[in-house]
Formats: sequence, structure tokens, C-alpha cells
Amino acid sequence: MQNIGYENVYQLEGGILKYFEEVGGAHYTGDCFVFDYRTALNPKLEPTETVQCFVRRSVVTPRQQLSPEYVYEKSCPHCYGKK
Ligand SMILES: [Zn+2]
Repeated sequence: MQNIGYENVYQLEGGILKYFEEVGGAHYTGDCFVFDYRTALNPKLEPTETVQCFVRRSVVTPRQQLSPEYVYEKSCPHCYGKK
């Protein structure tokens, strides 16, 4: 990120999940992607309604799942209409 111009770049020791354990959701907006069946965890370390599309493994939020382009196991707004 510093290579593209961001000057104030920091790394959380222990990662974002450790931050959630110690601080909770304070000063944080959103979920944390995890590389297992849960897809994403919220600051309470609970799985969320976020899923991955079967086509390209794109992350699909609950709001995106409301799109007519999201069809379970077939398409999502990220891959709909693309080969
Ligand atoms: Zn997709």
C-alpha cells in the first residue's frame, strides 16, 4: 500500500481476529473474510450471512444476495453474464 502512496500503513499484531477478541467491533466496520466454510466473521467472531459464489469464489454479501443476478450455485452480481 505504501508503494501506491498510502503513508500511514500499519499491521495489526495478531491480525484482525485477535483485534476482535481484544477490542470487539470498536473502530471497525464490516466483517473479516476467513478462508474456510464460514466465509466471514463479524466482530463478535460469529459467522455472518456472507457467502461465496460457486462460480469464481467471489464474496457475496447479504445485500448482493438480494440481486436477481444472484442465483444459488449458478451466478452472482460479480460473475453474472461473464464467461
Ligand atoms: Zn459469481
